[in-house]
Amino acid sequence: MVHEPCELGQLQIGYIQPVNDLSTPFTLADQVIVALRKVIGQKSAVLHEPTFSGNEWLYLKECLDSTFVSSVGKFVDRFETDLAVFTGAKHVVAVVNGTAALHIALKLAGVNSGDEVLIPALTFVATANAVTYCGATPHFVDSDENTLGVDAVKLRDYLEHHSKQRAGQCINRTTGKIIRALVPMHTFGHSVDLDEVISIAYDFNLALVEDAAESLGSYYHGRHTGTFGLMGTLSFNGNKTITTGGGGAILTDDPELARHAKHLTTTAKLPHAWEYRHDEIGYNYRMPNINAALGCAQLEQLPAMLKAKKELFQRYQAAFATVSGIRLVEEPAQCQSNYWLQTLVLDSNNADQRDILLQATNDAGIMTRPAWILMHELAPFRECPRMDLAGAESLVQRLINIPSSSTLLQAVS
Ligand SMILES: *Cc1c(COP(=O)(O)O)cnc(C)c1O
Repeated sequence: MVHEPCELGQLQIGYIQPVNDLSTPFTLADQVIVALRKVIGQKSAVLHEPTFSGNEWLYLKECLDSTFVSSVGKFVDRFETDLAVFTGAKHVVAVVNGTAALHIALKLAGVNSGDEVLIPALTFVATANAVTYCGATPHFVDSDENTLGVDAVKLRDYLEHHSKQRAGQCINRTTGKIIRALVPMHTFGHSVDLDEVISIAYDFNLALVEDAAESLGSYYHGRHTGTFGLMGTLSFNGNKTITTGGGGAILTDDPELARHAKHLTTTAKLPHAWEYRHDEIGYNYRMPNINAALGCAQLEQLPAMLKAKKELFQRYQAAFATVSGIRLVEEPAQCQSNYWLQTLVLDSNNADQRDILLQATNDAGIMTRPAWILMHELAPFRECPRMDLAGAESLVQRLINIPSSSTLLQAVS
């Protein structure tokens, strides 16, 4: 392997490995920084930043000029239609954020107070929070080394031993509670093993709601993620592949679920020229028109962003090909990933290198980040039921996200 000595000189950090093997004269941290620099150049880089290079200004101006910036306006309808076309979902309901989308999707999937909902321990806190908003308890599932999502083999075995069927419902043998739903999350854009996850949901009578917050533009067997379950949810937060400032959406093929989702997220108001009659407890979760205007413009840019993110992955792949002891996460079989966040995973015997790498890269102006703290280790969820989480626990010690913006390559001078 050829290194550029002068380049490395500036990046040398205070961790010196004994030079006993001349074929690998540099520490792993040095090698990782050299590989990252090959792709992103000498600039500093953040993890993920939004880019507004299309009709964003135009649509926002149109929105302001019309004065319809809030709960009424044409951009919400257009954004929902455009998302339906892009994802292939029959119905889309745009909402204020991805957490709200999950909350309503779970509620409509029949998640009630006292139920349990299977979610991965390795996820963003929104998945667990949304379960608790329904009065239910998250029940944590282990993650697979390859997909970084729900370990389907382990989950099936776990449910066979720890649940029973009663009157068409899945009952937790230990707690006696109904396990109502299963929420796989497509981590960093990589699809879970959906074939097996769908068959588990079917066999154990679990409602399937996909947390596709990170996987807009990711496909499984050519079909868009978030369209396999009863419902799927998206997020358009500022750090996601496209952004509406804040925003989310519910995807479903069921017209009645879509109607009810729209009703619940718009205060459950009955249509009437002047009367304010609400027929159930609703939520003010509607996406404002001004956010949807941004979303319409962002969605137009999505194909180009996905292309750029795939190219970034390929560049990283080439740069990391010669670095041993660490792997760059690649889309699993059957999955076409959006590569939302590029991810390095250290080999098991290198887990002690994670914090050294995080420190060295961030010191060098290259933002990197570990995975989230596992849900069962967070104060509000410590007592929640869970299966053995050895896979997630191991992954979390070895996983590092690296700069992933779609503009990263264009920015290299
Ligand atoms: C971003 C995200 C959400 C939704 O987040 P919001 O900020 O509420 O839009 C949900 N689940 C996961 C896994 C996420 O990454």
